[in-house]
Amino acid sequence: MGRNKDTEQLRPPSVNKLLMTPEMEMACEAYGRHLVADAIREELVALRSSIVSGVVTPAMMDAQNIFLAVNKRLSNWLRPSLQRVFNLTGTVLHTNLGRAPLPIEAIDAATMVATGASNLEYDLGKGCRGDRDDHIEPLICKLTGADAATVVNNNAAAVLLLLNTIANKKEVLVSRGQLVEIGGSFRIPDIMKRAGCRLREVGTTNRTHKEDYAEVIEKKTALLMSVHTSNYVVTGFTSEVSQPDLAAIAHEHSLPYAVDLGSGMLVDMKQFGLPHEPTPQDAIANGADLVTFSSDKLLGGPQAGIIAGRAELIRKIKKNPLKRALRLDKMTIAALEAVLRLYLNPDCLVERLPSLRALAKPKINIMNEATEIAAAVSEALNKNATVEVVEMKSQVGSGSQPTSLLPSGGLAIVPVGGKKGRGSKLKTLAAAFRNLPIPVIGRVTEDKFLLDFRCLENRVEFEAQLNQLKYS
Ligand SMILES: *Cc1c(COP(=O)(O)O)cnc(C)c1O
Repeated sequence: MGRNKDTEQLRPPSVNKLLMTPEMEMACEAYGRHLVADAIREELVALRSSIVSGVVTPAMMDAQNIFLAVNKRLSNWLRPSLQRVFNLTGTVLHTNLGRAPLPIEAIDAATMVATGASNLEYDLGKGCRGDRDDHIEPLICKLTGADAATVVNNNAAAVLLLLNTIANKKEVLVSRGQLVEIGGSFRIPDIMKRAGCRLREVGTTNRTHKEDYAEVIEKKTALLMSVHTSNYVVTGFTSEVSQPDLAAIAHEHSLPYAVDLGSGMLVDMKQFGLPHEPTPQDAIANGADLVTFSSDKLLGGPQAGIIAGRAELIRKIKKNPLKRALRLDKMTIAALEAVLRLYLNPDCLVERLPSLRALAKPKINIMNEATEIAAAVSEALNKNATVEVVEMKSQVGSGSQPTSLLPSGGLAIVPVGGKKGRGSKLKTLAAAFRNLPIPVIGRVTEDKFLLDFRCLENRVEFEAQLNQLKYS
């Protein structure tokens, strides 16, 4: 079987030959010979399959063109996947955008332990092995009034570990109105099952009474639990049993009572002009034996889950082998310790904690900033869209405070032309902002693209890249 003459002519240069071209030699200096050879091989495989399917032109075989294609592969490989973005969505603690930004104190602490050895699990006083929780526990106890505390990877892990330790192969009573799903992947009934517990639903979706609990307590019952319904509210004819009443019922039957707060905030949000969020210290004062909460929601720290409560229960939790599987990394411990320290001086919190600073930012300041930025954005859009300064509403995010919206301000951008095809124009517009060197993430509504400036911390950087916006 003779080869087709055309195909014979379209034979790409060899890897070695390509590697000897001056361009490739320069690429080797920059990226290393191994990676460049890899990229060439991949490109040649792609070229050969194009030859087979007959969609290749002689120009594509040219060493210069192959070099350009190889370079594209190399830069794709080397571009970091995880990168910084501007969160102008109006959702402050946006789970998809990494929730809370860390204060500089936390970043410095994480860098310090990342750079070298530390006393992570080493008791400097006694010169012997220590416990990594020791850096965090006294702070949590001081701030919440709990006797003891431990920390794990996130609040979902905290709830899992608590349930598995206290109620493995036993029953947990939870009000029907609190069987929530948070962020699509955390569902109380599923976590119960994975923790080896049986969920016993109590009462009805909208109303649960004291007697409902007392009636179902039996030998298999191991725990009473409340779940803060972070991301939804039941309104109208509703009733839930209060924390002190639930604690009393549990303790009458010698059972522990746990509260999953979800967000949980260590100070009263009202002092910052924000709606009240239940605190762990309230839960503990109300008689809860254990309380769990996130450290990257309202707390404004790194991702972690905190369990605080009675010493003997915390001791049991720490002994569970799952604790080892869910333990925190040293950088997170360092960052969390630094954030918790900020709470020792609540007067400086707004100034030092970026998430709280964003939440507490007055609307007037945001509107003023929007007014100042509007012209630059308008110019960057080059008459292809209109820009208007508008009032809007931000939300806290992460399932916290679902019903309270924060008065905010920003820009409403509308593509020029009529309503026809506006949907796809809005998508293109949003994509153009995402394609900036530091991607800008806004919010697309039915007829506008919105940029909420509540979370804009570095206006100079935002404006400096606008001349690279490509939208036409
Ligand atoms: C957010 C939340 C969780 C999960 O916390 P993560 O830190 O996201 O794992 C669990 N319970 C409640 C009530 C929550 O709001």
